[in-house]
Amino acid sequence: MRTKFIAGNWKMNTNKATAVALARDVAKGAKAGVELGVAPPFVYLDAVGHALAGSSVLLGAQDAYYEKNGAFTGEISIEMLKELGVRFCLTGHSERRHVIHEGSELIAKKAAAIYGAGLILVHCVGEKLEQRDGDQTFSVVKTQLDELKSDRMADPDRLVIAYEPVWAIGTGRNATDAQAQEVHAFIRNVVGTRWNKDFADHVRIIYGGSLKPENAKGLLAQPDVDGGLIGGAALKAESFLAIAEAAR
Ligand code: PEP
Repeated sequence: MRTKFIAGNWKMNTNKATAVALARDVAKGAKAGVELGVAPPFVYLDAVGHALAGSSVLLGAQDAYYEKNGAFTGEISIEMLKELGVRFCLTGHSERRHVIHEGSELIAKKAAAIYGAGLILVHCVGEKLEQRDGDQTFSVVKTQLDELKSDRMADPDRLVIAYEPVWAIGTGRNATDAQAQEVHAFIRNVVGTRWNKDFADHVRIIYGGSLKPENAKGLLAQPDVDGGLIGGAALKAESFLAIAEAAR
């Protein structure tokens, strides 16, 4: 039985006061039976970490650099994040791929470093609309899964794969239950081939892309959908917790 994971990606939103208030409300509303996490902007990690203290809600980072320290202006190391209590970190988010233009090689280095440092790695994959229309969804997702090294990532509890169709992120247009299930099943199959069946049975594959209370029940009921990565609806405790409740 895979415990569902519901993670909020706050992106470049909130200020210090609203981040702390949101974290407090999420912590207050967290219930057993589903794992919750929030990923605030870097500069609020410390304050949000304190607001979450004593709760089961995991603190997450939206990004990290793969080097340990040194002359990397503007970057944040994984050790720095761990010092603040960060437990999970995203890689491959579509905004980093397509807006910030991070390439596969850099994403793979980040993924290896984050997993190697003992954090939970939440690796995002997903196709653009023209790729879906061109029947390339499976090949795009498969290539993005190449960024994960199966021989160096042996613990299924520390890997989460987020399927996030780019056309569904922040657009209000979510994948249908069947579209999500189809790709999640494909991902689990690829994982089974590259790792093994036991690993594939344990690893969590979560859905992201305009997930909200209104569509959460259907999407989260799919057999291969093990939770959600939530942007817009994670900025209000009420909607985030309603999605968590649907997952429960
Ligand atoms: C995301 O940024 O990972 C995301 C899924 O955003 P939204 O829920 O706003 O589509």
